Amino acid sequence: MQAYTLPRAEHGISREDISDNALKVLYRLNKSGFEAYLVGGCVRDLMLGKLPKDFDVVTNATPEQIKSLFKNCRLIGRRFRLAHIVFGREIIEVATFRGHHSEGESDNKLGQQDAQGQLVRDNVFGTIEEDAERRDFTFNAMYYSVADFTVTDFARGRDAVKNREVDLIGDPETRYREDPVRMLRAIRFAAKLDMTITPRTAKPIPELAHLLANIPPARLFEETLKLFLGGAGVQTFRLLQQYGLLTPLFPQLESIAKNPDSRECQFILKVLENTDERINSNQRVTPAFLYAALLWYPLEEHAQKLQAESGLNQHDAFNIASGEVIHRQVQRIMIPKRFSTVIRDIWILQQRLPRRFGRRAFQLLSHPKFRAGYDFLHARGEIEGGNTMELADWWTEFQHADQGKQKKLLNALRQSEGSKSSGPRKRRRRSPEKRDAGNA
Ligand code: ATP
Ligand code: MG
Repeated sequence: MQAYTLPRAEHGISREDISDNALKVLYRLNKSGFEAYLVGGCVRDLMLGKLPKDFDVVTNATPEQIKSLFKNCRLIGRRFRLAHIVFGREIIEVATFRGHHSEGESDNKLGQQDAQGQLVRDNVFGTIEEDAERRDFTFNAMYYSVADFTVTDFARGRDAVKNREVDLIGDPETRYREDPVRMLRAIRFAAKLDMTITPRTAKPIPELAHLLANIPPARLFEETLKLFLGGAGVQTFRLLQQYGLLTPLFPQLESIAKNPDSRECQFILKVLENTDERINSNQRVTPAFLYAALLWYPLEEHAQKLQAESGLNQHDAFNIASGEVIHRQVQRIMIPKRFSTVIRDIWILQQRLPRRFGRRAFQLLSHPKFRAGYDFLHARGEIEGGNTMELADWWTEFQHADQGKQKKLLNALRQSEGSKSSGPRKRRRRSPEKRDAGNA
């Protein structure tokens, strides 16, 4: 690898843009005689003029040596051993240069590959050159030093930044086989940084997309969060679809993935659009909402099938289908319980929100997940129109109305429902519960 040393004038990174805590870590390591650099996403983002999400440091000190230098240090990680230096809410991640795995090492405890060529353990220490070769994209292999304020650019990352290109270091097919998650990372950076994936880096993806099935579901959960909650979810979804990466992640979206113009796809894109807007204006989002949306049409389809095939009533079919759709999904992507319960709450509210008579409307308003359920209904309404939109509009009005207005809205509802019904008034009065349920 040919390394280029970029002086300050050529990389434009100023110490003022760097977190004080990261600077402290760099200085302390340097003072103790170690090499230390900022590397990866933060150097890339600083060159792009963006605010880095976090600052990662790399050094020739071993994790134990790092630990002995910082009181506020924790050692973490199994696949990669790392040090976390904790400064209140900010954590500076410090890694030791990683090296290559020589042949004799392939079955030792430090570095391991499985039969597909995938790295399962990765703790061989190395030189800065080796560390650079092991990184994924050219723009992620730039090292900023506070010893002389230069950036060492090992893979012409600066050109990639200038040309806005996502380009893998090394042979793309080999790099994807080593770690199939790099396919998702290519998509993530292309979407988030508004860059294009170079043809050589793009080409193997559709053929290798299936390798994602070898990635542990817990890691895929983390990766999908980064994919969809990075503020560019719409573009990310489109690219995943285009490169055949959606189905390996969400097998139940197979038919939807083939049909980008479908109503089902439009709904997911609508929810992602709202999510992007919220993230880009610093509002909170929950992954549960997104998963609820991604799996909503598979759920409807499965519930209908269960109802038709086994004669279950709508309510039971929906409940059973909810559990099964989530169960199928977690075979691929782990969904922590705290999210899956919210996913189900949102879904159940879709069943309950149409039933508004008597005290129900007020009970629903005080449901802890009402807001999420209502937002979900609204997004559905925007795509489905018709009754769903009418229902969403009703709830929009009802939740903001004062008591008097709320009563009027409920009365109006009763009357309009009454006029639609052909049954005798007396019977309706006697069994409001049944009528109510029938309206759903
Ligand atoms: P972000 O701004 O989203 O955090 P990042 O580039 O910092 O982007 P991280 O996941 O934080 O991404 O990883 C930090 C660095 O570690 C990357 O820049 C890259 O050099 C290296 N890296 C991370 N994941 C991989 C991987 N799967 N294969 C090779 N190198 C990787
Ligand atoms: Mg990072």
